[in-house]
Order: sequence, then structure tokens, then C-alpha cells
Amino acid sequence: MIDETKSCVVSGKNKVSVIQQEINYQGIGTLVRITRGGICGSDLHYYHEGKVGTYQVKQPMILGHEVIGVVVESDSDKIIKNQKVAINPSKPCGHCEYCKSHEENQCVNMRFFGSAMYFPHVDGGFTQYKIVDTSQCIPFDDQASEQVMAFAEPLAVAIHAVNQSGDIKGKKVFISGVGPIGCLVVAAAKAMGAKEIVCTDVSERSLTMASAMGATTVLNAVSADFSSYLKDKGYFDVSFEVSGHPQSISRCLAVTRAKGTMVQVGMGGAVPDFPIMMLIAKEITLTGTFRFKEEFNTSVEWLNNNTINPLPLLSAEFCYDELEKALLFASDKTKAAKVQLTF
Ligand SMILES: [Zn+2]
Ligand SMILES: [Zn+2]
Repeated sequence: MIDETKSCVVSGKNKVSVIQQEINYQGIGTLVRITRGGICGSDLHYYHEGKVGTYQVKQPMILGHEVIGVVVESDSDKIIKNQKVAINPSKPCGHCEYCKSHEENQCVNMRFFGSAMYFPHVDGGFTQYKIVDTSQCIPFDDQASEQVMAFAEPLAVAIHAVNQSGDIKGKKVFISGVGPIGCLVVAAAKAMGAKEIVCTDVSERSLTMASAMGATTVLNAVSADFSSYLKDKGYFDVSFEVSGHPQSISRCLAVTRAKGTMVQVGMGGAVPDFPIMMLIAKEITLTGTFRFKEEFNTSVEWLNNNTINPLPLLSAEFCYDELEKALLFASDKTKAAKVQLTF
């Protein structure tokens, strides 16, 4: 009988700790022993700022939304003991207007792991044991690498971003900003048949990762010559902006051809001098992308069957009791791409 779990919590700006909590599985849902989880940008924001955007941490909250584990007990006979599972961190309500029209990533009552949007907050997955909805458990094979499978959530984000661009098969693609998510967009675009994938970033280390993930060409954002991509109203059918930087946004609009599509993946604040005339005159379709829907299942499948190998992105792993050390390492963008915690 499992009645306690050690959890990685944030309780405010620069305040994280590993605490003991009670857990009481009553036979509803699935009890999972968490084995591994990836640290994401939002976890780092909660750590350094005590908030993400306007969502302030007001009570201790378990971090983490990129976790996998092993089933201990379940209310479904389809998910048996010791089954390995990736945990989908989204729990849409199932009955709002968006859920009913299969736009569940836009659910107005979404309960997403490790989010201070609601009060009480929704706890995340960086804990030894967690009770989840059985529908959130996506099984994968015993033989699959856990380091690989812990990329299920960020890869789902990338696949959804590519789906937002329409059919990418045979297209010329530009990706600006190739940290972990940008690199997974590279891999997803390649897996879905993009013909040419040109990437840019200010970091040479990130560009090396993008090449390893399938980029055709990589260009330094500061020193490379982009003029050939600007001719005749732009070169690329689709561009993905994954940094959120105003200059990167401008460049994406400049290199996207007339009638092309730009997907805004990177988050950011105000964009001064947004080149709105370029958007208008070239009739570019600009779309956002937010989390994922059934792409989570696709992601688990692609990692399980080696369609995509995300390991070039894995920089380090730490035991969960070294939480703060792991967060500090993950924050150093000169060294770290994806950092995982083991439980
Ligand atoms: Zn994430
Ligand atoms: Zn809903």
C-alpha cells in the first residue's frame, strides 16, 4: 500500500523543495509510479519568477508536465500493473464547446499539469507516485528507452505546430529558433515529408543540434547571408518562429513567400515595429499553436517505433532530490537543451 510520495514543489520565486506528501489511491483512475520527467521552460519560469505570465504561484505546487511512469494499479483492466505509460498532462473537461468540436486543447476548463492558472493549482508530475485519469495514460513498449519516451510531451507540441501549417509534405520550411522545441519541429516536419528544412539561431550549439535532428541547412542568425531567401517575395512555403524575438518574427515574415504560412510557436511579449505590411501585401497566413490534441498519441507512437530520435537534445539527467541543481543547470542555455529528472 502506497501512502506517501516525495514531490518536487515550487512555492514562490527561487523557492523549490522536495517534500513528503500523502497519497491516497481509492481505486479511481490510475496510480502511476513516475520514473522520469523532462524539465520545460515553464518549470524554469515558475522557479525563477514564481509565475508564468500572469499565473502566480500562491501555494506549493508540484512542477513538471513531461513525465512517464509505470502503472501500479488502475481502475481499467486495459491498463495492467507494470505497464509503462507516457502521461498526457492535459485533462480537458469533455463537455465545453471546444471539447465537443474536437478542439480540446482550447478547452475552457482545461486542467494541465503543473499550472498555477487555477486556484487551488493543478499539480504536476515531478513526484514519485501520482493518481491520474486512466485516459491520460498512453502505454508504450517495455523495450523502449525511457530517455526517449520522456520526450512525448514536447514532441506532441512540435507535431501540433506542424499540423497547424496544413500539409507540409514536399514543402520548403524555415525554422527560426532551434532550442529543444524548435529541434523537435525540425524532426516532426521531416517525419511528415518536408522537402527542405532551413534553420537559424544565434547559438552554434543549437544549430548543431538542429542538424542532428534533420535540418537540411543551418544558418547563424547574426552572420549568415539570407538575401537569396528574400528574392521574389520570399522563398519558404512555411515558416515556424520558435524564439519569440521580434527580429526573428520579422525575418520569418520576410523569407516566407507570398501566400505562404507562418506558425508562431515562440512566446513573447509586445513586438515593436511588427512588419504588418509584409503580412498584408504577401497575404501570409499567420497562425498560433498551443499545446496539442491527439498529437500526444502520435508522439508516443513515433518515439516508441523510432520514427524520431530525440536523444541529441538530452543534455543531462539528475535524480529528483537534486531538483534545484537540475533547474539551475537547465537554466544555463549555453550548456543545456533538455534536462531530465529520474525518480
Ligand atoms: Zn513542456
Ligand atoms: Zn472542455
